Amino acid sequence: MENTIIIGSGPAGYTAALYSARANLSPLLIDGPQPGGQLTTTTLVENFPGFPEGIQGPALMENMKKQAENFGTRFKTGYVTKVDFQTHPFKITIDDVELLEAKSVIIATGASAKYGGVPREMELIGHGISACATCDGFFFKSQDIGVVGGGDSAMEEALFLTKFAKTVTLVHRRDEFRASRIMLERAQKNPKIQWLTNSLVTELLGDRDLTGVKVKNVKTQTEQVYPWTGLFFAIGHVPNTQIFKNQIHLDDQGYIILPHPPRTQTNIEGVFAAGDVADHYYRQAISASGMGCMAAIETERWLASHA
Ligand code: NAP
Repeated sequence: MENTIIIGSGPAGYTAALYSARANLSPLLIDGPQPGGQLTTTTLVENFPGFPEGIQGPALMENMKKQAENFGTRFKTGYVTKVDFQTHPFKITIDDVELLEAKSVIIATGASAKYGGVPREMELIGHGISACATCDGFFFKSQDIGVVGGGDSAMEEALFLTKFAKTVTLVHRRDEFRASRIMLERAQKNPKIQWLTNSLVTELLGDRDLTGVKVKNVKTQTEQVYPWTGLFFAIGHVPNTQIFKNQIHLDDQGYIILPHPPRTQTNIEGVFAAGDVADHYYRQAISASGMGCMAAIETERWLASHA
């Protein structure tokens, strides 16, 4: 029986692991399908305090993991396929085969990138369609490509992709941007970035690989085909909570509800949640880390009073 199992290995999970390891809980962290989380798909992180020159996302996550390990966190590679929080001890199934029991659980499964819902986008992933510029940008050297979205992610992805692509056209469904002013201005100043506002991607062309993208202007209702060989979606994220449905309370977008914020306790006593899985407002590495710390402290106190 584990004292505490941490599900997820982003900033929230690793920070929860660090704090609970230092509290002698000997936590077990299950790292999930993308060890290190979303930051492993980014390059320079400029806004994590303590790194005045910035730090590469994968290096930051590796450091967090090592720090948690130094104090006794145990790591397990695997994917949680089922949980049962209705009886205590809680039950967690790994890869459909291994059953673990825990007195407490910290959920830190984060969120995943959304795609646009355009026909055939799923079959073209890896053949021109992507949601991760840092993973796939390299494959689009000297090509004309598009980025969908109007938030900070879209600006960041578009800017990053200008390092490889010949042109990057940003397609946004409105003419106002959700992106912060600084990011928007940076993108607007880049001569390689072109803009299509009030526009939606309606069709993806090409049999095996993407050869063109049909874009519709929603004001004029006109459609035009662009010869892009790459299209990156940067339109937000969905929380990774599939396995928690019917186990804990989720909101209508699937985020875990924390009934007593800033407390990280979920509606099930002994189950806590931290990071993007329970936060669609801040969604920052540092705020996820902060929540991981809070969840670990709450877990330690809960275990002490329920021993
Ligand atoms: P976001 O702020 O929610 O923006 C999503 C964008 O995608 C919006 O412009 C939205 O359009 C558009 N969109 C959503 N669904 C769409 C669809 N089906 N088809 C077409 N367009 C669609 O998400 P984000 O950009 O991923 O940013 C998330 C959070 O992370 C934000 O708080 C952001 O500031 C932060 N972030 C920060 C940095 C940084 O500081 N370096 C980098 C990345 C992200 P509408 O505007 O019309 O809704």
